[in-house]
This record gives sequence, C-alpha cells and structure tokens, in this order.
Amino acid sequence: MRHNWAFTAVFLLLLAGCQKEEGVTVDNYTIQEELVPYFDRFQEEGAARGVTVDFVAAQLSAVLDDIAEPNVSGQCYYNGGDPNRLVIDRAFWSQASDIKREFVIFHELGHCYLGRSHLDTANPDGTCVSMMHSGLSGCRNAYNSWTRSAYLDELFLEN
Ligand SMILES: [Zn+2]
Repeated sequence: MRHNWAFTAVFLLLLAGCQKEEGVTVDNYTIQEELVPYFDRFQEEGAARGVTVDFVAAQLSAVLDDIAEPNVSGQCYYNGGDPNRLVIDRAFWSQASDIKREFVIFHELGHCYLGRSHLDTANPDGTCVSMMHSGLSGCRNAYNSWTRSAYLDELFLEN
C-alpha cells in the first residue's frame, strides 16, 4: 500500500484530538498524496485570515485508511509525545464530494493543528455555529460553498 503514496514532510505544534492512538503505526510527518491539496488549502485559508499554518514546525501524519466505526469519516489520533495522526476513512473519501472532503479534513485539522475542541452550539435556525461540531449534538451541519467562508472565519479566528 505505502509504495503508492507520495509523502510530504509536515510538522505540527498544537496537539488535541478525538482519540488515543490505536492500531498500526505509519511513517511520521507524512501526508498521503490524495490529501495534500486539502492541506494546502487549509494553509491558504489560514494565511488569508492572518493565521500562519507552519507545517515545517509541526508534526503530523495523515492517511486514508479503513475506520471500523460506522459513520466516522475522520479521526485525529493523539498519542502523547508522538506526532498526531489524522486518519480519513477510505470508503468515505471515495464517495465524498470536494466540499465534504474539505469539511472533514478541516474539522480534523481544527483538532490536530488548531487545538480546538468540539463546539456544538446551534444558531436560532438550528444550523451549527461552528464546523467544529461533534455531529452528535443535533445542530445541523450547514457547511457548503456559500457558508464556508464564514465557517472558516470562525474556525481560524474564534480559536
Ligand atoms: Zn471532531
């Protein structure tokens, strides 16, 4: 499997996460090729808001893998002194639209890079205030091409 991957060195400063490390270990400081455009986009959107996303200083790996738990499309594993490992579910990725891929990557980087926790507050219309919602709270995910700019403001600036 790994011989198909092109790796890019990245690093991570801030640590937070959904879960403790479990399962196989992959090469540290690497991002799987298919995921790289979304990491580049995250960096650009941060820069547009005055937030420097410094992958050189960070420690992170990101891979496509099979997540056994149902309805989980991405996870950020945090394992003490080891680098964070971001895992995106392969089945989700293969069928997801660009905006859904972006949502999951950016949400997980909200944990792994920005150090954010879940925020499940709902607007009066029921939509989620933040793209850092847990997906379990009942607020409605309204991340789309029209709302993304405001959600990214909240993601990067309401830290
Ligand atoms: Zn989360």
